[in-house]
Amino acid sequence: MRRTLNEDALLCAAPLFLVADGMGGYADGEAASAAVVEAFSTLVGRVAVGIDDIRAAYASGVERVLNLPAVGGAGPGTTLSGVGVSSNDGRGYWLVLNVGDSRTYRLSQDAFGQVSVDHSVVQEMVDTGSLTASEAATDRRRNVVTRAIGAGGASDPDFWMLPVHPGDRLLVCSDGLTGEVSDAAIEAVLRSERDPQVAADRLVAAAREAGGRDNITAVVVDAVDVEEPDLDDDTRPREPSVPRTPG
Ligand code: MG
Repeated sequence: MRRTLNEDALLCAAPLFLVADGMGGYADGEAASAAVVEAFSTLVGRVAVGIDDIRAAYASGVERVLNLPAVGGAGPGTTLSGVGVSSNDGRGYWLVLNVGDSRTYRLSQDAFGQVSVDHSVVQEMVDTGSLTASEAATDRRRNVVTRAIGAGGASDPDFWMLPVHPGDRLLVCSDGLTGEVSDAAIEAVLRSERDPQVAADRLVAAAREAGGRDNITAVVVDAVDVEEPDLDDDTRPREPSVPRTPG
């Protein structure tokens, strides 16, 4: 509702569902988010992707962004969050990746929660206990990211491998959604709306109604055909100094 440019980009084509939120002003951010998504588009059409595929596409995306012209400052950059459909020993997995403050959420076996962990100044303050989650939502530093692709460097993404369960629903979104709509309101839409496209449309509409101060992107992914895994062994690599309860 306020921005003249859309600096978000998305990839919504199996096996990849990604959102990138560009930064850098003018057309720079737009070029950065588009470049990263384009690097991953080479994997579209595969049945599944592995961590090596994701790492190679990520490296290609980093190279593309770092080669973009920098119009003063640190140069363009972008976040990247989302999921690739992966498989291991015949079991389906969500391979979630994240760099920056776009987010991936999961509704699975009746539990809803954010899978990705924001790379942001306020998230670090929440982790160390110097800020509460609700304070972080309105803190003036809430838009400052601590990792990005480009913008003066290139950070490694975090990865999570989560077994796919029948009925799983994932949401990948930019901070234009989460900056306007609470997690509880997001969860309510994801639980109540059967059709994934309508759910995404409703989430974007809610963010617009709440002010729409940033570009808003929402991708909703449903697992409709899943072989039930034998194990329920979520692995969530993250810094050991920052324990977090799965959920
Ligand atoms: Mg944004």
